[in-house]
Amino acid sequence: MRNDNFVSFEIGKVKHIALIAHDGKKQEIVKWCEKNKEILARHFLCGTGTTARLIAEKTGLPVKGYNSGPLGGDQQIGAKIVEGQIDFVVFLWDPLEAQPHDPDVKALLRIAVVYDIPIANNLATADFMLHSRFMDTVYSRKVENFNKTVQDRVERMKKETP
Ligand code: PGA
Repeated sequence: MRNDNFVSFEIGKVKHIALIAHDGKKQEIVKWCEKNKEILARHFLCGTGTTARLIAEKTGLPVKGYNSGPLGGDQQIGAKIVEGQIDFVVFLWDPLEAQPHDPDVKALLRIAVVYDIPIANNLATADFMLHSRFMDTVYSRKVENFNKTVQDRVERMKKETP
């Protein structure tokens, strides 16, 4: 039976990786990037402003920087996930520190789940993800069929509108 409620998107062999860390986690992400430099160098890297700059300067890896997280960087990364331009995320958020942009943090975590994007929120998960066999293959992720969802909702609302 064909199921058109979901559509598949490919995560290519070369991943588009977003790197984000709250201030209390920045040293961790820099060390993790240094340790995994060889693997990371085979992929496209980006991140929120401060994290991206710090990783680039400390490790020499090229990391495209978006705005700083509290100034909309998390939302920019979320938008790139929606557009299919980011397909792998390491986001070390700090569980011991309140963030002024907490709604943006939640929005990014949510959108990564909606778009079936692998997202690591601690170092152990990041290690497991980076050493997964899927790092060297194409992976098919499943996303709700938004065209169908919009069409179904329009049809339903047309019926409900007098
Ligand atoms: P930053 O943003 O890399 O600019 O510090 C990270 C965040 O707070 O989401």
